[in-house]
Amino acid sequence: MELSTRAAIKRGTSEALAAASLPENQLFINGSFVPGASGDSFTVVDPSTGKGILEIPRASVEEVDQAVLAAKEAFTEWGRILPSERAAVLLKIADRLEEHQAELMALESLNTGKPSAVAEDDVSSAIDSFRFMAGALRSGTSLSAGEYAKDHLSMIVREPLGVIGAVTPWNYPLLMGVWKIAPILAAGNTLVLKPSETTPLSTLKFAQLTADLLPAGVFNVLTGKGSVIGTRLSEHPEVAMVALTGSVGSGISVASVAAQSVKRVHLELGGKAPVVVFEDADIEAAVAGIRSAGYWNSGQECGAACRVLVHESIAGEFTRRLGEAVSSLVVGEPGAGDEVEIGPMISKAHYDRVLEHLEKAKAEGASFVTGGGAMEGPGYFIEPTVIDAPQGASCTQEEIFGPVVSVETFSTEQDALDRANEVPFGLAASVWTKDAQRSHFVASRLDAGTVWVNSHLALATEMPWGGFKGSGYGRDLSAYAIDDYSRTKHVMHHTGR
Ligand code: NAD
Repeated sequence: MELSTRAAIKRGTSEALAAASLPENQLFINGSFVPGASGDSFTVVDPSTGKGILEIPRASVEEVDQAVLAAKEAFTEWGRILPSERAAVLLKIADRLEEHQAELMALESLNTGKPSAVAEDDVSSAIDSFRFMAGALRSGTSLSAGEYAKDHLSMIVREPLGVIGAVTPWNYPLLMGVWKIAPILAAGNTLVLKPSETTPLSTLKFAQLTADLLPAGVFNVLTGKGSVIGTRLSEHPEVAMVALTGSVGSGISVASVAAQSVKRVHLELGGKAPVVVFEDADIEAAVAGIRSAGYWNSGQECGAACRVLVHESIAGEFTRRLGEAVSSLVVGEPGAGDEVEIGPMISKAHYDRVLEHLEKAKAEGASFVTGGGAMEGPGYFIEPTVIDAPQGASCTQEEIFGPVVSVETFSTEQDALDRANEVPFGLAASVWTKDAQRSHFVASRLDAGTVWVNSHLALATEMPWGGFKGSGYGRDLSAYAIDDYSRTKHVMHHTGR
């Protein structure tokens, strides 16, 4: 692949970001940091430079079992304390994260290469999740106690499940961790969390910062391989549920293994969000929305506005304007300043995968409106790209997970709906129109867990996030997440004489 002629990558001082101190040992089991017993380890890399940051142990199956046992013992107490007491702990965690916000942001940017605006949003959202869950855990479920069968008083009790295994991805390491940790703890469970092998640093920092706030064993972290740790958590008889955010392949693997012990599973998987732009849309707003939501976190975002379907009557002008907007995105290292909007791909392997997608698009007859190639290293940078794509091209169907947006045209409303729903994913979608009736109709027919109207990628901690179809099941954020990590018991008292 040829290198681009685009303006150079803005370089910064990543080293300055490395100031955050991490624990000397990196498995966090039963309230203590311990070294990995096997001696097997891997190197965590700064994707802006390709340089190694830290050597991290790979936990063994035996260490998974130790962590699960610690979480099981801790559950006896944590699962029984009053909601108000659990809420107080969650609020203290939020305060602690806030005190260390700059350090957490720096660490997240160092490990992922994400621009500072993205890191800031990640950490603020993580803090907000703890504050929300602290309140939400104290409110009840829908049905009030009452007489629903003659001479019987019914009540619904929401109970914690026990030990939960949580597995997280590399694109928002801290935030995806907190989207699990906060509701899992809020519901009264304990957990063993495995961060992505590529990006464990902020999760370890979280464990270090909260070690004195949570009772030993309530929260445990194991670094290492998904195929070893994720699989053991999924099959472990003492684990009540496994929650994974990751790719469809990992989701299928977790669900298949968990099925052997009829374990509950919560899956937040991939996406390929359609962005349907009708002929009456505000083109300027749609272009600005896609420039932001298609390339947020360098396009490594499961809900990214990556698959544009635009009405054929405005396609020419729309695509030209989108190309111009995207070519102005500033690419650089996080340390290069606040104007940087696009960072590197997370790893060499992922960079190669995204470039393969671009080669394939070209081979299938697509053309690049802007971008389309790699940028000069060091680091794994790819040009922000807009592809003018023929219908059915693989770049319009497969999750690319990079700074790449495809644009294709549609002719009628039904055509737009059929094409929007033809992909196997169903995480998110947006519709752009000034016609309120049309927006309601189209939103009701889109197969997506979140639908935005004249917007894309706005989130609220109070509102649920999760997918349909191949994007998984279960909900993050909101009180729905607490319900997902709880079991519902009906207790009935005979009241007649
Ligand atoms: P991945 O599936 O490769 O890895 C995710 C996690 O699963 C990692 O911790 C990994 O070690 C672990 N894992 C891998 N194989 C496993 C197995 N067999 N059993 C158990 N765990 C296993 O995904 P990734 O590349 O880290 O993240 C990118 C993917 O995550 C994309 O597909 C993206 O769309 C998805 N994602 C979804 C959401 C959402 O909210 N739906 C959010 C962020 C990312």
